[in-house]
Amino acid sequence: MRNAATSPSSNKRTRPGARVTDDLFSPIKIRGDQLAELLVPFGHAAHIRRHAAAVIVSRVRLVAALFAILVPLWSMIDAFAFPWPQWAEMTMLRLVAGGIFLLLAWPWRWSTSRAQANLLLLTLLLVPPVFYLLSLTILAGVPLTDGSALVVKLYSLMPDVVLAGLAVFPLTACEVVVFSLPAFLFTIVGIALSGDLPSVLEHGPMLWLMLLVMGAATFSGMSQLHYMMALVNRAMIDPLTGAYTRRSGAETLDLFFRLSVQQSSPLVVAFFDIDHFKAINDAFGHEEGDRSLQAVADGLRKGLRSGDILVRWGGEEFVAILNNTDVDGARVVIERLRTMGLGLRPDGAPMTASIGVAERRLDRVQDWPQLIELADARMYEAKRAGRDRAILPEGPLRPVRPSVLA
Ligand code: GH3
Ligand code: MG
Ligand code: MG
Repeated sequence: MRNAATSPSSNKRTRPGARVTDDLFSPIKIRGDQLAELLVPFGHAAHIRRHAAAVIVSRVRLVAALFAILVPLWSMIDAFAFPWPQWAEMTMLRLVAGGIFLLLAWPWRWSTSRAQANLLLLTLLLVPPVFYLLSLTILAGVPLTDGSALVVKLYSLMPDVVLAGLAVFPLTACEVVVFSLPAFLFTIVGIALSGDLPSVLEHGPMLWLMLLVMGAATFSGMSQLHYMMALVNRAMIDPLTGAYTRRSGAETLDLFFRLSVQQSSPLVVAFFDIDHFKAINDAFGHEEGDRSLQAVADGLRKGLRSGDILVRWGGEEFVAILNNTDVDGARVVIERLRTMGLGLRPDGAPMTASIGVAERRLDRVQDWPQLIELADARMYEAKRAGRDRAILPEGPLRPVRPSVLA
C-alpha cells in the first residue's frame, strides 16, 4: 500500500485509478488485493483501525456483561454438584471471575486504540481458561458422582467456548490464530495437570474439535472484518475521487487537533478551491468535469506525503490535513504540489487552485473549525489576489502578515 492515509487501503482506490463504481446495494465482494488485509492486521487505514477498535470494545463489553451474570449464577449448580468446602472455593472463584467480567463490561469513558481493544479482548479470553485451570486444582481428588462428573466434563469445554466466542469479533485470520493460542495452551496444561497420559483417543478429538471451532471462528472473524471495512469505506470515502468525505475528514481533524494540543505538535490545514471550475462544466459537460475532479484528486495525492489526509470538503474544494507539520513543512508540500501541477483542463491549459493554509500553533486557534475557517478565509484571499496562488501564515509564532506563494 502506497499511502495509508491518502489512498485508504480497503476501498476501491487501493490501486491508483480504480474507483468506487458499484451502488450502495450491490453485493460486497472480496477482491484479491483485499485478501491480504483480511489475513494479517497490517496496512489497515487509520479509520478502519479506529472502527474495528470501537466494534471490538463494544462486543467485549456485551460478552463480559453476559458472563458477569452467568458465571456467578452457575455456583447454584456447583452447590448441587460438589461438597463443602470445594463448593465455597468454586463460588469464590466465580465471584472473582464475575468481578473481572464486570470491570470489562463497565462503560468507561476513555476512547480506545486498536492495541488497547486487543488487550481488553485478550483479558476477556484469558479469564475462562484460567478459571478452568483453577477449578481443576480445586476439584482434584474430590469424589465425583455422575452429576458432578458431568459438570467437570462441561468445564473442560471452556476452551471451545472461548474459541467460539472469537467468532463475534471483526478480526484478521492471523489475529484469530494468535487469540486462540491461550485456549490451546491452557488445554495442554490442563491435560498435564490432570495426571493422565496424553491419549490420542481421548485428547485427539478434543484438540481436533478446538481446531475446527477455531477454523469456523477464523472465517467468521474475517467476514465480519470484511463487511465492516466495506461499510465503513462506503460511508467514509468519496466514491468519485477516493478522498475522505467531509464527515470522516472532520472526524479525523478533530482527533488530530486533540492529539496536536496534547503533544504540543504543529498541525496544518490546507484548503484548495479549483480555479474557474464551473467553466469546465459549462464548456465540456458535467462528465468531463467529473474526470477533471478525479485528476485533481490524483494530483493532490501524488504531491502529498504518506500520512497526510486528503478530504473532499465540498464540490471542487479539497482539504489536506498535514499532521505534525509546521508552516515550513507545509510550504515545501505546497511548492511541490504547485510544481507537479494538478493535471490539465480539458482544453489543455494547466489546472490551478487557490490555496489557503493555517497552522494550529502559529495561528493560535482554539478548535479545528477555527483552523478550517482561517484556511478558507486565506483561500478566498488567494482568489481575490488573482487565483493560482497559496497564502500561508507567516513568521515564527507571529500570525501577522500572511505570505504568498504565487
Ligand atoms: P472560482 O472558484 O475560481 O471562483 O470559480 P469556480 O467556477 O470554481 O467557482 P465555484 O468554486 O463557486 O464553483 C464550483 C463549481 O464546481 C460549481 C459546480 O458546478 C462544480 N462542481 C461542484 N461539484 C462538482 C462535481 O461533483 N462534479 C462536477 N462536474 N462539477 C462540480
Ligand atoms: Mg468552490
Ligand atoms: Mg472554484
